[in-house]
Amino acid sequence: MNHQNLSWQQQLSTAFTNINDLCRYLELSSPENLSPAAAINFPLRVPYSFVARMEKGNSDDPLLKQVLPIQDEMRYFPGFSTDPVGDLAAITEVGVIHKYHGRALFIMTGSCAINCRYCFRRNFPYSEFQLSKQKQQQAIAYLNNNPEISEIILSGGDPLLLSDNKLAELFGQLEAIPHLKRIRIHSRLPIVLPARITSEFIDVLKQSSKQVVLVVHCNHANELNAEVKTACDRIRASGIALLNQAVLLKGVNDCAVQLQSLSEKLFSFGVLPYYLHLLDKAQGAGHFEVSETEATALMQQIQATLPGYLVPKLAREEAGAASKTLIF
Ligand SMILES: *Cc1c(COP(=O)(O)O)cnc(C)c1O
Ligand code: SF4
Repeated sequence: MNHQNLSWQQQLSTAFTNINDLCRYLELSSPENLSPAAAINFPLRVPYSFVARMEKGNSDDPLLKQVLPIQDEMRYFPGFSTDPVGDLAAITEVGVIHKYHGRALFIMTGSCAINCRYCFRRNFPYSEFQLSKQKQQQAIAYLNNNPEISEIILSGGDPLLLSDNKLAELFGQLEAIPHLKRIRIHSRLPIVLPARITSEFIDVLKQSSKQVVLVVHCNHANELNAEVKTACDRIRASGIALLNQAVLLKGVNDCAVQLQSLSEKLFSFGVLPYYLHLLDKAQGAGHFEVSETEATALMQQIQATLPGYLVPKLAREEAGAASKTLIF
């Protein structure tokens, strides 16, 4: 299969969803700790394009660890719950989450192209969430009625799973809101499925008179290959700011050398590191946790070696807080 000849939609529908297929492709003979049971509630899902960046025969590959269902997910960790952010149930009810000053977050879809094992979504398969016409209208009305909001954040799930037509329609509606200055998109798709950056999508971005910011999600330098570079170049060529948020994950990127090379490589792709998030305490993700003390020590190391603009902000999400809580 040469995935580069497939459309992004075709690549989505041919993503790996079967553990045995994935292990066979990666030439892994039943890795230790593998757990088909862990995949029952939160299935394996990873596009071929992302798998192609993993090292064959390496069961410790940092990209593989982000997606492979393992027995550790069934372990109990104190403090880890099914609703760590505190508002999961509300997410499907409303289209808009307005918690922070000046910014409103718009839930566009519950689905993602990839199932990241550390994500809070794992306990809340809101993939049934559909942005109905009615919800979209309510969200636009909400923005219109709140002149305080100058930035709309398109989030999910992954908002770039919506078609270019749907995005164009939404951008058109946002265009008409005078007090709105910026449209921000939070998406992992430019990283895991770079073919998503179609020329139609680029046209939507270019046609907007609002400033557009695209925040991607990449945790390890190995995720950044030539395909991703092409996608980032095209986005940047249309005048859009590119930022990255990562999650600090034990066994994936909890090492100063890795974090440095992630920042350096992101910048060589025209992407600035924005946040490094401490893990949300989602049940099933406890084995990924890096303590706040360890995290702070890592930040001190990278601060000592990188230019300031390549040091992300270490942050945690706290229910009820007026912003992300900055740790470093
Ligand atoms: C993270 C988040 C934002 C954006 O916060 P920034 O610090 O501006 O990146 C906005 N609204 C909600 C609900 C969020 O969780
Ligand atoms: S929301 Fe982000 S972290 Fe969670 S599964 Fe989707 S892409 Fe992964």
